[in-house]
Amino acid sequence: MAYVYDTNNIFARILRGEIPNNTVLETEHTLVFRDIAPKAPVHVLAIPKGPYVTYDHFCAEASDAEIVDFTRACAKVCDMLGIAAKDGGKGFRAITNSGENGVQEVPHFHLHILGGRSLGRMLDLD
Ligand code: 5GP
Repeated sequence: MAYVYDTNNIFARILRGEIPNNTVLETEHTLVFRDIAPKAPVHVLAIPKGPYVTYDHFCAEASDAEIVDFTRACAKVCDMLGIAAKDGGKGFRAITNSGENGVQEVPHFHLHILGGRSLGRMLDLD
């Protein structure tokens, strides 16, 4: 079955300019903005501008140009925010929740990028 995109999800509304956001970086195909409820000193969400529901949807159906733009934007934003794991930087965690078992809240693919403190073990299943 195909992926079904809800054009009224919050991130679609952010992309249409209907809801304000705190933009960190915007490129041709990608928007990176601050999470409204940050879980770390740095917590941004990177989203493609195209209508992709989940990471697997994006990986399967986005164009090469969109995928390259998105991945390069993520690298650039880590550098801009001083969390890249290079030049002695302390690094970050990138997470994407997909679907029901992934406990995805907003059905527009987004990569959480978190840093600025130690993030502990990868999964807390409580
Ligand atoms: P998910 O659970 O889908 O992986 O994460 C959704 C994220 O979107 C959450 O971290 C939540 O805080 C964030 N979020 C939800 N609504 C808004 C909003 O209106 N603006 C921003 N900037 N972030 C939002």
